[in-house]
Amino acid sequence: MENKTSVPTFRASDFLIKVGDFIRYLEAVGMRLECSQCGKDEGWSLDAGNDANDVTEVSIYKMPFSEGLAFRPVCAMTCNHCGFVRQVSARKVVAWVKDNPSGLL
Ligand SMILES: [Zn+2]
Repeated sequence: MENKTSVPTFRASDFLIKVGDFIRYLEAVGMRLECSQCGKDEGWSLDAGNDANDVTEVSIYKMPFSEGLAFRPVCAMTCNHCGFVRQVSARKVVAWVKDNPSGLL
């Protein structure tokens, strides 16, 4: 019997997220601004710019599983106080933006 299970292919174009849309997402889901590790609220540095010419889009990290071709696409932001790196599922953000288009950014 042939196994027809398909593995998703990573295409960066599937995860284009404008910085403004990412901020709207964080506000909509009520993400806390206090760092879960140090408890401070000194802001977060969001990784942006998949290429040097455009920093208006959130950087997407492809987190490959240890075996096979499966992956988890994530956005990353760093606590300005302690350096803790918070990751957010790019799939969740993309789905939310699709349901809540801005049209402004
Ligand atoms: Zn922190």
